[in-house]
Amino acid sequence: MSDVHLLQTEITYLKGVGPQRGKVLNEEFGIYTFQDLLDFYPFRYVDKSQINAIKEIKDADSYYQIQGIIVDKSSIGKGKTKKLSAILEDQNGDQVVLRWFQGINWIEDKIVIGSKYIIFGKPILFGNKFSFNHPEFNLLTNENLNQTGLFPVYHSSEKATANGLNSKGIAKLTETLLERISSVIPENLTQSIIAKYNLFNRKDSYRFIHFPPNEAYQQKAAARFKFEEFFFTQLSIIKIRLNRKNKSVGHQFSKVGTLFNSFYHNHLPFELTNAQKKVIKEIRFDMGQTYQMNRLLQGDVGSGKTLVALMAMLIAADNGFQSALMAPTEILANQHFNTISNLLKLLPVNIALLTGSTSTSDRKIIHENLQNGELHIIIGTHALIEDTVKFSNLGFVVIDEQHRFGVAQRAKLWSKNTIPPDILVMTATPIPRTMAMTLYGDLDYSVINEMPIGRIPVKTYHFTEAKRLKVFDFIKKTIALGQQVYIVYPLIEESETLDLKNLIEGYEAISRSFPLPDYRLSIVHGKMDPSAKEYEMKLFSEGKTHILVSTTVIEVGVDVPNATLMVIENANRFGLSQLHQLRGRVGRGKEQSYCFLMSEGKLSKEAKTRLETMVRTNNGFEIANMDLKLRGPGELGGTKQSGLLNLKLADIAVDENILRAARNSAETILSNDPNLLLQENLPIRQHLVQNQKSSFDWSKIS
Ligand code: ADP
Ligand code: MG
Repeated sequence: MSDVHLLQTEITYLKGVGPQRGKVLNEEFGIYTFQDLLDFYPFRYVDKSQINAIKEIKDADSYYQIQGIIVDKSSIGKGKTKKLSAILEDQNGDQVVLRWFQGINWIEDKIVIGSKYIIFGKPILFGNKFSFNHPEFNLLTNENLNQTGLFPVYHSSEKATANGLNSKGIAKLTETLLERISSVIPENLTQSIIAKYNLFNRKDSYRFIHFPPNEAYQQKAAARFKFEEFFFTQLSIIKIRLNRKNKSVGHQFSKVGTLFNSFYHNHLPFELTNAQKKVIKEIRFDMGQTYQMNRLLQGDVGSGKTLVALMAMLIAADNGFQSALMAPTEILANQHFNTISNLLKLLPVNIALLTGSTSTSDRKIIHENLQNGELHIIIGTHALIEDTVKFSNLGFVVIDEQHRFGVAQRAKLWSKNTIPPDILVMTATPIPRTMAMTLYGDLDYSVINEMPIGRIPVKTYHFTEAKRLKVFDFIKKTIALGQQVYIVYPLIEESETLDLKNLIEGYEAISRSFPLPDYRLSIVHGKMDPSAKEYEMKLFSEGKTHILVSTTVIEVGVDVPNATLMVIENANRFGLSQLHQLRGRVGRGKEQSYCFLMSEGKLSKEAKTRLETMVRTNNGFEIANMDLKLRGPGELGGTKQSGLLNLKLADIAVDENILRAARNSAETILSNDPNLLLQENLPIRQHLVQNQKSSFDWSKIS
């Protein structure tokens, strides 16, 4: 039997498994083969050199590992309400109570008076006594009592335990398996990568991830597997990018013509920042090639991405192609339409706006003009991707505030021309570089890392309710200076009605404190119909109202440079990138702007960190990194379902260096040997062939 086939052997054939346990392993853990068992890593290790004494327990927020003897146990209640408690005594004679409220029937037998255990968990403090609820526990037997090193702890289940497959049972099987097959575990990285990054080989890595003699070995084994995870993901992403570039199926916008030049020289209201110039150059180069451009444009809020997009659309128009700009909300589409129409008013470019509230008769005209090529630029919302919208020659698509669109929605726009249009994806707020490499790694990447000159950084403060009067005074002062104010309330889906009530109550309170005729207010929320919303927004953007009270509908993109104060109510309920987006609505003009984060009551640790971060920095990239650390990758940018971040050990929030190394290696290898034909790359090729089922269909992303 070849090595590979041996690893694909059904788990039932492992000594100690058999049909019954095989079934349990399948059903409970998805383990079907030898390979699957190898890949079932411990989630934690017990390190007997790291034992705490009971008297060392001081903090309900930390984990403790305690070794001792069960000296008493008792249960009360019956069936579902049955509770179990036990007393563990350590070698100093100190005692601590352990409690269980669930699954008592199978725990009760495992807790034996007089036996020695290691328990692990976070204590809870009740009165002035610590105790443990549902701690992990491991029986110390003669067999493992004197064992040195870390011993692995595997996830198990009630059913598995009933079949002898508790953590220890799984460890035993893994040990048996490693003895049997360790000589045939194939390498899947090249020797030069292994040497360059000083990685364990694959065989040793499997041994040491399951049975590390000490922490250093465990970490080195884990690092190797993290590298592997990143490396193979990056390899397929980069491959897709190369494929796209090698197939010349894109439009080629070969010239920069009169529209672009005349706009650049005569109609630009300000000097472009160096970063904008650099990015426009990158886009121009890409558009001039025969492949389809797929580019991610990142820039902090207010860095001037819209202008870059506009100039790229002019290049398309110069070459006889139509462009579409798709925005996530109607307000934003409207605003883009107004800004762009205004900037281009002296140029022979026909622009239209198409959203859900475009009237049927207007819609009909727009459809016609798109099809006969009259229109050069169409700006809109999801309405653009309806099947009835057909183009004469769509060549360029800008997707603003990318994360709100699903992959499938974006793909629909591609298909509106036989040759796919060039694509520019713009993010609303920065996403961390590591995240971009993973999620958009097949796209080319441009970043605007500079703000237009003359911008004064927004000053941010956190206030509690006690400061409410002072805040209202400040609002009055701001308005007296002729400037405008946003007051934003959270709107979170689960509690939409409650939030709306908060908003309306807030609006009423604000109306009382800021009465007519001195103060005029606008209100905007998601439950209003679009025309009313637009009307209120318009009043505010034309300076006819002083205060805009709203839910987060203004979160993205709205541009009113005269607004200099952003008050965010219940700021603790917003996520970091949302707060940053909201704050980006001010600080757009020449005056000093302010952002007040209001909160009431006790804050969670995480909320505190979020607010402190906002007060400390205006840098969107720094905020994005903190967001990633706090929330984890799955929650960011609607990527949860995408599956792209299904990494087992690697974590893009902390393993940035490994990711970079893996991406560099993948890039180097593919640029030297795109089809992995060289002898030295054979291990990689073989691995890809054997793991085809697990590779993603990357072509769907972008
Ligand atoms: P974002 O990157 O958040 O989409 P916008 O494109 O909305 O930013 O630009 C923010 C504001 O900055 C707009 O009012 C825009 O007109 C202005 N702006 C863009 N580029 C420049 C520049 N080079 N100099 C001065 N102001 C600029
Ligand atoms: Mg924008």
